Amino acid sequence: MVKRALNQVKRLDRGQSPKGKGGKVPRCGLCGKTGNLTKTKCCNHWICDDEDQYRLFSFAHNSCSRNHRRYTLCAAHDVEGHEGRWQDCQQCREMFETEMYVYYGTNEYNFEKLPNPPKYRPTHCAECNRVIRLGYDGYSHGPEGYLCEKCTNKKFGELTPLR
Ligand SMILES: [Zn+2]
Ligand SMILES: [Zn+2]
Ligand SMILES: [Zn+2]
Ligand SMILES: [Zn+2]
Repeated sequence: MVKRALNQVKRLDRGQSPKGKGGKVPRCGLCGKTGNLTKTKCCNHWICDDEDQYRLFSFAHNSCSRNHRRYTLCAAHDVEGHEGRWQDCQQCREMFETEMYVYYGTNEYNFEKLPNPPKYRPTHCAECNRVIRLGYDGYSHGPEGYLCEKCTNKKFGELTPLR
């Protein structure tokens, strides 16, 4: 009985390992594609060399290298020239609002996610009080605080006189 259980565990482990015949082929650490790769300047990981494609599809988050460069602490830490690892960096922690710090440290554009991200209070719309997820939702920031996309549009409408 015991032996059999151990065998099963072993098999499971093997099944989970992504390394097989093609284990040596470099893959983009974010999307897993092979070919046309480059290494990130900030952390020396393989990543799609796809910044050119980005220009064709203007607004989508479809460029691995751009996403990593624009939306991660890893890249910001490097660009800002901080010392040490971004995961332990106090300057990074202070550079962003906690919610954005957590987003930049844990989103899908990271090779390595922030361990134990700090807790933060959710951001609420100053007008309608619904929760705004700063990393994902549209919003505006003004003297009253954050406004959700809906309220921003409403406000924007008020400011534009209708004739
Ligand atoms: Zn990729
Ligand atoms: Zn990086
Ligand atoms: Zn830093
Ligand atoms: Zn609102």
